[in-house]
Amino acid sequence: MIRILRRTAMMLALATPALAQTYPSQPVTLIIPFAPGGPTDALSRIMVEPFSRELGGNVVIENVGGAGGTIGANRVATARPDGYTLMLHNIGMATAPTLYRRMPYDTLTAFETIGLVSPVPMTWIGRPDFPANGFAGMLAYIRERGDRVNVAHAGLGSASQLCATLLQAQMRQAVTTVAFRGTGPVFAEVMAGRIDLVCDQTTSTTPYITSGRVKAFAITADARLPSLPDLPTANEQGTPFEVTVWHGMYAPRGTPRVVVDRINAALRATLRDPRLIARMAELGTAPEPEARVTPEAHRAFLEAEIARWRPILTAAGEYAD
Ligand code: ASP
Repeated sequence: MIRILRRTAMMLALATPALAQTYPSQPVTLIIPFAPGGPTDALSRIMVEPFSRELGGNVVIENVGGAGGTIGANRVATARPDGYTLMLHNIGMATAPTLYRRMPYDTLTAFETIGLVSPVPMTWIGRPDFPANGFAGMLAYIRERGDRVNVAHAGLGSASQLCATLLQAQMRQAVTTVAFRGTGPVFAEVMAGRIDLVCDQTTSTTPYITSGRVKAFAITADARLPSLPDLPTANEQGTPFEVTVWHGMYAPRGTPRVVVDRINAALRATLRDPRLIARMAELGTAPEPEARVTPEAHRAFLEAEIARWRPILTAAGEYAD
C-alpha cells in the first residue's frame, strides 16, 4: 500500500514539470461571471489577445452571468483543476460571502488566486432625460422620489450592487433596485429610459458617457480621470463617495502550482503590454503594480477585503438587496 502511494507520488512529481512544458495544449476557458457588454467582460476582451499570446494558447471567453457573479464562480469552483478553466472576477468575490446566507462554494478554499489585475473606479450614470443634473441633483431627486427611483445592478454580490447599497446606506434612503445578469444589459434599459440610474465601472460606462448617450453625475474616484476630464468626483461636488472595484484572476483549487505559476507569468507579461495599458487608460484603469499580481498578494488582499466589507455590509443590511 505504502509502495503504491509512493509510486503515485513519484508519478505526480514527474508529471508536474512535464505538465508545465505542455500546458496549454487545448483552449483555455476564461469565465466571466457576468453578461456580455459589462465592465468585467470589457476588461477581459481587451486582455484576451495579449493574454492568449503570453500563455501560448487559445483563450476563449465564456459569459456565465447571474446571482451577482456567484453562478459563474461556482462553475469555476467545480471545474477540473487542470488550468483549462479560469475566471476573471471583481470585488464581488469579497462582498458575496457576507451578502449570501448560503454560498454554493467557500470563497477562501474553492479557488487558487492567480493575481490582481486592475482597479477601476465607478460612475453614477442615468437615463438621458433624468430630470436633475450633477451628483447633488441626483441625490436630491432620490430624496424626493424615494423608492419610485429605480437603480439597476448586477445582482447580490456585484460591484454595482455594492455601490447602490453604499449610497442608500449613506443617504438612509431606499430606492427600488432591479437585478440583471450583469450590467451589460442595463445600458439599453438606461438609454430607453426604463432604468433611472446605475453605478458601473468606467471600463463599460466611458463610451456611453463620452458619446452623451447617458447622463453622468459623478465618478467615485479621489480625483478626475484624464479619460473623463469633464466628470467631477462625488467628493468635489460636496458628497464624499468613493468606490474602487478591483479585479482578480482565479483557477479552481487544486490546480497544480506549476500551472498557476505559468498563468501568473502570462498575466504579469500581459499587464506589461503597452497597447493594453493604453487601452486600459482610455477606459479609466491601469494594471495593478506587479507586486500585487501574485497568487500570495491576491489571496492576502482577498482575505483582507472580505474582513473589511463584512461589518460595513452588515451595518448596511436593510439596503443590501
Ligand atoms: N459591473 C458589474 C458588477 O456590478 C459586473 C459586470 O457586468 O461586469 O459587478
